[in-house]
Amino acid sequence: MNIIILGAPGSGKGTQSALLIDRYDLQHLSTGDMLRREIAQQTELGKAAKKVMDAGQLVSDEIVIGMIANRLGEQGNLFDGFPRTLAQAEALDKLLNERDEAIDHVISLEVNDEEIISRMLERGRADDNEATIRNRLNVFAEQTQPLIAYYEGQGKLHGVDGTGDIEAISARIINAIDA
Ligand code: ADP
Repeated sequence: MNIIILGAPGSGKGTQSALLIDRYDLQHLSTGDMLRREIAQQTELGKAAKKVMDAGQLVSDEIVIGMIANRLGEQGNLFDGFPRTLAQAEALDKLLNERDEAIDHVISLEVNDEEIISRMLERGRADDNEATIRNRLNVFAEQTQPLIAYYEGQGKLHGVDGTGDIEAISARIINAIDA
């Protein structure tokens, strides 16, 4: 099984991913985590990515698609923070298709902007200051929102209310997947 968890920055993708990989025995593929590992290891890729991430912009499609392509294996996958652009979504469909696989479900975590901003300011990650957050929300609206229509067109989209208790949100996601 291959699942995508889609949502604005701060919508809780990482938290929900941790629960879903256990339940469905999936490999967790978070491009944000991969990029932060590159930064921690001070690789050339990490140094270049840090500038882009701190500005709230997207790392190039080529880089993130390459990272994902390198990690696809036998196990099913949970894609978290990827794809973020239509080009990434099309590349992912192609990569999976070459392996006779496909995306099975796309969970769109729905959280309003006000709640997002207050959650991210509490979290306080390096890229979680107000100017960057605003940028990331704009980038999400412009580059990532179109994926909702893309996956809706494929009949794979499940919109899930991303507010309330963590357990209540996971129950909604599991219901959508198991239905
Ligand atoms: P969040 O969902 O809170 O934005 P992520 O860890 O998913 O956190 O992403 C952090 C940053 O890493 C993004 O703002 C972006 O700069 C970069 N990034 C992560 N995934 C991608 C991707 N698929 N394409 C381009 N950039 C990405």
